[in-house]
Amino acid sequence: AFASLNDRALVHHSSYISGQFHPGRTGHFAVHNPADGSLLALVAEAGSTETEQAIAAAAAAFSAWSGATAAQRSALLMRWYQLMQQHQHDLARILTLEQGKPLTEAMGEINYGASFVSWFAEEAKRMNGDIIPAAATDQQILVLKQAIGVVAAITPWNFPNAMILRKAAAALAAGCTFVVKPSELTPLSALALAELATRAGIPAGVFNVVTGTDAKAIGQVLTKDSRVAKFSFTGSTPVGKTLLAQCASTVKKVSMELGGNAPFIVFDDADLASAVQGLLAAKFRNAGQTCVCVNRVFVQRPVYDAFLAQLIQATAPLKLANGLETGCQIGPLINQTAVDKIARLLDQALDQGAELLLGGAIDADLGPLFFQPTIITEVTPAMRISQTEIFGPVLCISLFDTEQEVIELANNTPTGLASYFYSRDIGRIFRVAKALHYGMIGINEASISNAAAPFGGVKESGLGREGSSYGLDDFTELKYLCLGGL
Ligand code: ADP
Repeated sequence: AFASLNDRALVHHSSYISGQFHPGRTGHFAVHNPADGSLLALVAEAGSTETEQAIAAAAAAFSAWSGATAAQRSALLMRWYQLMQQHQHDLARILTLEQGKPLTEAMGEINYGASFVSWFAEEAKRMNGDIIPAAATDQQILVLKQAIGVVAAITPWNFPNAMILRKAAAALAAGCTFVVKPSELTPLSALALAELATRAGIPAGVFNVVTGTDAKAIGQVLTKDSRVAKFSFTGSTPVGKTLLAQCASTVKKVSMELGGNAPFIVFDDADLASAVQGLLAAKFRNAGQTCVCVNRVFVQRPVYDAFLAQLIQATAPLKLANGLETGCQIGPLINQTAVDKIARLLDQALDQGAELLLGGAIDADLGPLFFQPTIITEVTPAMRISQTEIFGPVLCISLFDTEQEVIELANNTPTGLASYFYSRDIGRIFRVAKALHYGMIGINEASISNAAAPFGGVKESGLGREGSSYGLDDFTELKYLCLGGL
């Protein structure tokens, strides 16, 4: 599978600790290609012992890394970034092979992930503190921003490259050292980044990757070891809650990027063609497997029929295929569990009165993980599909009448990550944007995520923000100095 890479040395099969790829001690686990089920690699199992070694390496490297100048860290991050750009085709191919997404989207992810590295290479130089007017005439108040220490992270399979870099770039820029456990479904993209970190000259112990299938055991160490100052997680809400509770034992600073239940609202004054295009992008990206993917579509009555007609026409021809195939727009889902979950949600909705307009099944000719782009209507808030992050290519459409009604519908969920709406009325745009209880809002826009913007959610969607000039805050501590006797 890797024969067509320009640089096969990017493919590694074991954890990366203190600048070395470690041979396994306790066997291997298989990584499969979701498009055809073929075996891609056997990767060495790491467990709590290796995790402790990685934390020790990160702790040992911290003093020199945080003590280097911002310009020195910035230069090494820029070198890492340049290597990612240079090897983008190989990185994208590795990503599609283990994750399934269309190669064009994989290329997009490699560029998106790398953009955080260049962004934070620049931000590293602007970790400015403050001088504050003092409370007494003989005092001076100074505030320093300092690297918090060793950062541990656990990342998911849906963005095997970017979810690591969004955290690691900010952590390293701030002067922190880093240990990540990538998803056991997609470890190869993480290990390719480790190879490039070595080549960039990032010092041993600054960036570490622990690969293993015993997520629980590795997670226990990462969340409870007192040498870890900060824990950052991207994944499902239930797992996030468990890890957040575990972090309480040592009062770690915590960031959580958890699930969402994104609404997409089409008002009667929307540009319908642009809303359809936005919806396709925000729904079918990564076969619907992103935390900002649209989950619930609300269309206002006067434009309902016209919007639906355009939507069906635009969705029907989407090309479902192996991600490596030219023209592929939707790849396979990650595994059988994902397919079963979506099929169950869909069946329940149809039983409860939803109407199937398009798709609704596996494309068996392609393979067991290829789910057709699907549209259902008459979806109600009582259906489980409205309350659950679908993580698949199913569009759920509902009708609404008033602005107030749709704001209540949209906010009626425990999560609050991304939301989207289409309208041309400036008054309505500000009213609705203020009323939506979400961390991110796309207004006449479906591609909202980039390195310059703060990514994150409210309510049960998480804690903290990644990217932007705020992104360093999660990896720094404020230290207040009070100079007296002046
Ligand atoms: P998803 O599979 O939907 O991305 P998960 O939350 O299951 O969401 O997985 C995200 C990451 O969390 C993966 O790296 C996975 O291995 C890890 N993980 C899952 N369960 C646990 C756990 N109990 N403790 C620590 N990490 C976990």
